[in-house]
Formats: sequence, structure tokens, C-alpha cells
Amino acid sequence: MAKFKFEYIWLDGYKPEPNLRSKTKVIDMDFFHGDIKVLPLWAYDGSSTKQAEGRFSDCILKPVSVYPDPARNNAFLVMCEVLNPDMTPHETNFRCTFQDDEDYWFGFEQEYVLTQDNMPLGFPKQGYPRPQGPYYCSVGVENCAGRELVEEHFDVCLDAGLNITGINAEVLLGQWEFQIFGKGKRAADDLWVARYLLHRTAEQYGVKVEFHPKPIKGDWNGSGMHTNFSTGEMRDKGGKEIFDAIFEKFALYHAEHIHDYGSDNDLRLTGLHETQAIDKFSYGVSDRGASIRIPVATAQDWVGYLEDRRPASHADPYRVIARIMKTLGHAFESAASNGKAAKKSKAAVEN
Ligand code: ADP
Ligand code: MN
Ligand code: MN
Ligand code: MN
Repeated sequence: MAKFKFEYIWLDGYKPEPNLRSKTKVIDMDFFHGDIKVLPLWAYDGSSTKQAEGRFSDCILKPVSVYPDPARNNAFLVMCEVLNPDMTPHETNFRCTFQDDEDYWFGFEQEYVLTQDNMPLGFPKQGYPRPQGPYYCSVGVENCAGRELVEEHFDVCLDAGLNITGINAEVLLGQWEFQIFGKGKRAADDLWVARYLLHRTAEQYGVKVEFHPKPIKGDWNGSGMHTNFSTGEMRDKGGKEIFDAIFEKFALYHAEHIHDYGSDNDLRLTGLHETQAIDKFSYGVSDRGASIRIPVATAQDWVGYLEDRRPASHADPYRVIARIMKTLGHAFESAASNGKAAKKSKAAVEN
């Protein structure tokens, strides 16, 4: 029998955004082939995570996604949902509020800022560096800060089997982005585990990972989590009508989307710095000042994906994709009732 370390990871009950928590369980078994069904439920003290009262404090961890842990021997990372003691979903568990559907593909662009003493890496001890401009996709010590940490995180994500598809230095000095692509809920599971690994990697450098959407006030870019999305209908069949139905429903439900896209997003969605203002909804081909950007390739023949630029960097990806799936469901339903598109799966419409 071998001893395996399983790092059970979950989201706590802090508001408005949850924090990542984790603890390790050693399990004796002959082999572990990545079969999540053999992993047991586990309990923790919910009164220490704002998820329970002290007198009735157990919360239950239910494994939902498992990854090899590249930093430890015989170890795995286990993304979990949180349940109440009676096995009903905990109120902080947004992952269980919608039905999974791998027909929905998501590409998250996770921006973040590396900081020390509350200032971005590369900023001088006093004052500010040169105005932004040279830092995006930069190379060289005068324009780029934090690369060693970022590269280590990149490798760790690849070794964990996360579907990380790229990285780049961002517009604010010390700000970076990584992209995660996935189908259905797996995209959001991967994103949370990538955030977990980023925090853990940064610990070794004594660096904080700042996910706030507007960490530096003034003429400095905020951080977002652009969410690219598509369905089979959009990718394979497409057509101007189906995209028009999508824009119409996204306009209609703008407030609901903003509600689920993270707090303090008004500080970032100002209409400046490649954003649309938070109280406006717009879409445009290749337009980085729009709420939704239509990639040029998508607009050519109306087949492909869209980029929702509104989600904040610290938004909960479960809430973001649940909302997008719901609004797409409405769009496909209205397109179908106009006889212009095949009816989308019932699940997507109901949610
Ligand atoms: P940007 O030009 O906005 O910086 P990025 O290259 O950073 O774009 O991110 C684009 C994202 O779109 C990637 O994560 C990619 O995986 C994702 N993507 C590409 N095709 C699709 C698709 N059909 N459906 C959903 N996401 C997609
Ligand atoms: Mn990007
Ligand atoms: Mn970006
Ligand atoms: Mn983008």
C-alpha cells in the first residue's frame, strides 16, 4: 500500500468574493488512477470559514476534479464542492447551481498583479514608474517584473494537467495574465486550481497575488477576467441571426451579468483603459472598448466565439459561466421560436 497526499481545495464563505482554502488528507491505496469516485467525502470546521455556526460547525467536502500535484511526491490536488451535513449543497456552493454541458466552451483570460508591500513588482519605493505603455508583453528589466515566478507557475499548471493555453505580461507593470480553456464546468475548476497554484507559487517568493480589479488608482489598467465563450451552435452553424439573438439577450440581462461578475468592478469598468462603462452594454467587432468584443474571425462569416470583457479579475468563474450559459439559453430559445435556429438543449434553457 502506498500513501498518497490529497490536497482538498474549496471556496470559503467570505463575501463578496470567496477565498481558497485547502488541507491535506493521506489515503492508503494500492494505486490512484485519477478516479475521483474512489475519493472519500471529508469534513472541516465551517465556523472558521464563515460557512457555519460554532455549535453546528461541520461542512462536507465533495471531490469534483482531481489533478496531479507537481510540487509534491505521490500527491494530488482535489477541487471540491461544499455541502451541508445533510448533503444538500451549501449556500456558498455556486458550482452546483447549474447543469454541466460540455457543448459550452470557455476561455478565461485571468489578469492579476504581483505585489510586495502593497505595490506592484517593479514599482519604485516612492512614486510611480514611467506611465503605462511599454509594459504589455515586454521584455527587459526596465519594463518587466516577476517573470521567474510567472514561469514557475506556468510550468506547475502544465504539470498539473490544467488546460493553460498561454501567458503574457500586461499593461500595468507587475501585472500578468494566463489563459485557461475548458469545456463546461471543467474550465472553472481548472481556473480555481490555477489560482490556487499561483498563490502557492508566490508564497515561495514572499510575493502577494493581488486579484482586485483596480489595485492602483489613476491612469493604470485594472485587472479583468475576459471570458471567451462558444457553443456548438455558434462554432458549427452560426449565422448572423443567432449572434443577433445573443447580443439582444446579453443586452437585456446586462445588470444580472454585472451582479455575478465581481465586486468593485465599477472601479475598473469606467469606459477608459480598454473597458466599457459598467452601466452601458455594447458589442463591436474587434472593439476592446465594448462589453462584448466580436473577434474579427467570428464576424467574417458569423461562426465562432465571443469575448465577454466585463468579468472582474476576482470574479467566481462558476458564477460567470452559469450566467453566460443561462443567457445563451434564453438567446437560443428565442432564436428557435423565431424558427431561425435549432432548439438548444433543454437544460441550458431551464437554468
Ligand atoms: P485577447 O486577444 O483578448 O488577449 P487571448 O488570446 O488572451 O485573447 O484569449 C483568447 C481566449 O479565447 C483563449 O483562452 C482561447 O482558448 C479562447 N478561445 C478560443 N477559441 C474559443 C472558442 N471557440 N470558445 C471559447 N473560447 C475560445
Ligand atoms: Mn488576453
Ligand atoms: Mn489581458
Ligand atoms: Mn481579452
